[in-house]
Amino acid sequence: MSAYEEVYRHAAALLTEHAVPDAALDAWYLLEHVTGLCRAEYFLRAKEQIPEEWEQAFFSLINRRCERIPLQYLTGVQEFMGFPFAVSPATLIPRQDTECLVEEAIKYLQQYEREYSSGARVLDLCTGTGCIVISLAKLCNLSYAVGTDISEEALNIAERNAKDLNVAAEFYLGDLFAALPQHEIFDLVVSNPPYIPTRDIAGLMPEVREYEPMTALDGAEDGLKFYREIVQTAPEYLSDGGRLLFEIGCEQAEQVRTLMLQRGFTELWTGRDYASLDRMVSGVWRNRK
Ligand code: GLN
Repeated sequence: MSAYEEVYRHAAALLTEHAVPDAALDAWYLLEHVTGLCRAEYFLRAKEQIPEEWEQAFFSLINRRCERIPLQYLTGVQEFMGFPFAVSPATLIPRQDTECLVEEAIKYLQQYEREYSSGARVLDLCTGTGCIVISLAKLCNLSYAVGTDISEEALNIAERNAKDLNVAAEFYLGDLFAALPQHEIFDLVVSNPPYIPTRDIAGLMPEVREYEPMTALDGAEDGLKFYREIVQTAPEYLSDGGRLLFEIGCEQAEQVRTLMLQRGFTELWTGRDYASLDRMVSGVWRNRK
């Protein structure tokens, strides 16, 4: 039997030994996950004995974190735009960078609503946990919200997230636009597709490289495979004046802009993330030019 504080310190030391980033913080999150104690309660009880089954459950998670399994796959959740999203090893873990994409989409959707006095139709390609389209549906008035993904397991998680967060979104299984059950028109097509060039994957941190789904990361030889496919087909699915908004790798802005310009998109825009790196590109589709 050990006290909470001993258990916590031992766990943080184990994580540090295994070079886990933010070891002290991760030890804390896992302790909170197992015990349900908030920080104040922990400090009140720090010298009390921790129940045996909690100690065991905690160290079994700590050991898995030492193997560099991402924290979120152990707790099963990642907060995104202030909402708790269920995650699993079948889904990419939602990133803070992607919140910038959602913020940008919100600006456009609010402008759309002011202009047309109705909600926009939104399609999210490669939806994963559904974090983008579900957050948009929570924060904006949408008339139609759809996500597609190539992974059935990911879509199950997206559906669960939509249900838990009380959002009416539809999810379809398949390859990008081809997943849609019928040909439909959207005012905003948004996507955070896999964009890492295959050769760069070996250099990623072990959490990502070994545990996050390769299909959600690998953008093929130059990382641009999905941008090419989406840019090519999107005009068939966009309303006149509709917008295509991408998250991109920080060195891909020029190439993605060029793809969009060549396809006939106008009003190209590049946006940065919280680290001031290029992280988004968007363009507008006009039917009559
Ligand atoms: N759209 C999801 C996200 O942004 C998944 C993206 C992906 O799988 N590449 O988290």
